[in-house]
Amino acid sequence: MRFISTATASPPDVDRPSADSPSVDTPDSDLAHAVLTGLATDGGLYLPATLPRLAPEIFDRPATDGSLVETACCLLDPFLTAIPAPTRHSLIADAFDFPIPLVSLGNGTHVLELFHGPTLAFKDVGARMLARLMAALLEPESDPVTVLVATSGDTGSAVAQAFAGVDGTRVAVLFPRGRVSPLQEKQMATLGGNVLALEVDGNFDDCQRLVKQAFRNVELTERFRLTSANSINIGRLLPQMVYYAHAHRQLPFDQRPATFAVPSGNFGNLTAGLLAARLGLPTTGFIAATNANDVVPSYFSSGTLTTRPSLPTMSNAMDVGDPSNLVRMLKLFDQDLDTLKQQVTAVAFDDDATADAIRTVYEQTGYVLDPHTAVGYLGLRQAGLQQAGGRGVVLATAHPIKFREQVEPLIGHTLPVPERLARCLERPSRSQPLVPTLKDLRTALSDWSH
Ligand SMILES: *Cc1c(COP(=O)(O)O)cnc(C)c1O
Repeated sequence: MRFISTATASPPDVDRPSADSPSVDTPDSDLAHAVLTGLATDGGLYLPATLPRLAPEIFDRPATDGSLVETACCLLDPFLTAIPAPTRHSLIADAFDFPIPLVSLGNGTHVLELFHGPTLAFKDVGARMLARLMAALLEPESDPVTVLVATSGDTGSAVAQAFAGVDGTRVAVLFPRGRVSPLQEKQMATLGGNVLALEVDGNFDDCQRLVKQAFRNVELTERFRLTSANSINIGRLLPQMVYYAHAHRQLPFDQRPATFAVPSGNFGNLTAGLLAARLGLPTTGFIAATNANDVVPSYFSSGTLTTRPSLPTMSNAMDVGDPSNLVRMLKLFDQDLDTLKQQVTAVAFDDDATADAIRTVYEQTGYVLDPHTAVGYLGLRQAGLQQAGGRGVVLATAHPIKFREQVEPLIGHTLPVPERLARCLERPSRSQPLVPTLKDLRTALSDWSH
C-alpha cells in the first residue's frame, strides 16, 4: 500500500493566518517512510492512497473472546503489506493486548471504553501500534532509533509506556519539572531500560523548543537517528479504525448501525472513524464533540476556517485551536465541506455543561464519565437519537481516575484506584535532570547506556 500527502491536492478554501504553499510533486511514499518520518516532505499529512472496501462479514460477525485481534488483522492487513504476515499478525496482537469493552447505559446509549491500556487513555492504542510498526520497519541490524518527545504529561506517558522494551527503539521524554501530575511522572520515569525520562529545568515550551532544535540539528539527528512519535503519524491513526469495528461487532442482537460520538481535539480519533466507514463500517454517522475550542463546529456552521490559540478547559487533552487532522478529513471528502457535513455533525460544549453531564449521568446510571467522554456524551444527547429510536456509541477516551480532581467533587465521593495504577505509583522514579540546552541534551543522549 502506498501513502499520499494531503498537500498534493488543491488546498481547501480556508482563512488561515499563514497558509504554507503546497508543493505539487511530492512522491507517494511507502509504509516505512511514512511511519519513520511522520510528516510528508511537502508538509502534508499521510493518508492511504486507496481505501479498499472490505467484506461485510468482517464488521457484522458478533464479537467473541479474541475477536478484537481478528478485527484488527482484517482492517489493518491491506495497509501493512510491507510487513510479512506472521510478523504483522504478532505485532497487531501485541499492540491490542487489552480489552475494549462496549458498556450499555440504557436507552440505546453505549460507551466504548478505550481506557484499559497502560496509561488509561485511548492514546495507548495508537502509540503501542506505532512503536511496534517502527521496530518492524527498521532495517535489520541497524542502530536503534531514538524517539524524542516533549510532553506536558499525557502524550509522553503514553509514548514512554508504548515503546518500553520494544527492540530497536529507545525513547527520551522531556517533561517540565514540577508541571506534570505525580501519576504522569511515574508513568514516564519508573520504566528505565530503553526509556529515558529527562526532567527539564523549565516549562513545556522550553521542552518543545529544545526538541525542535534537536530535530533541526543534522549531526544530532543522524548520530542518534532521532524520530518523533507525534499524533499526526499515520502509524498512530490506522489502528484507531479498529475499535469502531470492534464496537459495532459488540452491539446487541440485530447490530443495527450506530452513530459514533467522538470527543475531539486534533480530530485523529474522528478521522480514523471516517477511514473505517470507507472500509465498510456500518454507521449512521459521526458526531464530533469539542469543548470551548470550537474551531471545527464554527467552521462547519460558517464555512470559514478560523484557527486560534487554544483555551484552557477541564477536558484539557482537547484544548486544540488548530486541529491538525482537519486537512485529512477534507482530503477524504475531496475538499467538499458539504459532503463531509453529511457524515459528520460538529458540536461544542462548555465546562459547565460538561460538569453537569458528569453529575447527572452518575445520578441516573451510576456510570462515571471523565470530562472528555462527557463532552462526547453531550454530543450524542444533543443529536436526539433516543427519541428517534436510534443507537449511539460514545467513545470513552480516558479513565475518570485520570481526572479525579475534577470528577470526584461532582459525583460526591472518591474513586477507587485501579490496581495497575496503584502498582505504578509505588515504583521509584528515576528521572534525570536536564538544563534545556542542546549541549546538555547531546551529553544526556551520549551518556545514556542501558
Ligand atoms: C488526545 C485526547 C482526545 C482528543 O483526541 P483527538 O484524536 O486529538 O481528537 C480526547 N480525549 C482524551 C482523553 C485525549 O487524551
